[in-house]
Amino acid sequence: VTLSIDPSAAMPVPRATLDELVWLSRELGQQDRDLILLAEGNTSALLDDGSFLVKASGARLDRIAAREFARLRVEPLLEAVRDAAPRDVAALLADARCEPSPGIGVPSIETFVHVVCLGMGGARFVAHTHPTQLVGLLSTPAAKEILTAGALFPDEAVICGVAPLFVEYSAPGLELGRALAIRLREHLALHGEPPRTILLANHGLVTVGRSASDALAVTVMAVKAARVRAAALAAGGLRPLTAASLNELVRRPDEIDRRVRLTGAAGD
Ligand SMILES: [Zn+2]
Repeated sequence: VTLSIDPSAAMPVPRATLDELVWLSRELGQQDRDLILLAEGNTSALLDDGSFLVKASGARLDRIAAREFARLRVEPLLEAVRDAAPRDVAALLADARCEPSPGIGVPSIETFVHVVCLGMGGARFVAHTHPTQLVGLLSTPAAKEILTAGALFPDEAVICGVAPLFVEYSAPGLELGRALAIRLREHLALHGEPPRTILLANHGLVTVGRSASDALAVTVMAVKAARVRAAALAAGGLRPLTAASLNELVRRPDEIDRRVRLTGAAGD
């Protein structure tokens, strides 16, 4: 992703992108999905001029309006994530503001997670949620083994990808953004492509989408996969798909077509 920065000449926010972001947010916020409660969770979308939209702090996803998104520039925030120097986060977020913006609210504390996914992880849309069943597994001593043992069923591999990224607990905010950036760089070096699902220990889920519908599809499938894991563990243990099965599955043309149909996103 090439990011060109010219804050004096920011383009208007494309209506279609803003509408998609509102749609994704309200879908994630539907109470029967059990992904978030109250003002939990947040979403973002990348724009073509090196800026992005992110949910304002305190806004509720289920009833969010366009004016509850703030527009920020990627580069100054990514720079703060990449170094280890102490930063005044409020000043950093204020300086990164970009006009015209849909709203004037304070950006979510999780803006740094979003900027890493958008600026380093190839995402166009990012969904961050706290699904009950998944946070339960993320809060166990064996969370990493349970959740990175490998996909358990074909649709998990096809929709969520074969290699989720697991990140140990860090305090929400810049510290978590920095921890995620380090893990994401390692993941990219190892796998050659970004993860679609990012698992935050004792916290929640981040999905990296190429579209809003992709981010939603990966989220709901990751939650289903968590339920399947809990059922498998209760029945005696996990038996993941073999590496050979996974490799065959994610490269099969009919499975790639299925992912395109399910998520609206092209397979790799
Ligand atoms: Zn969170």
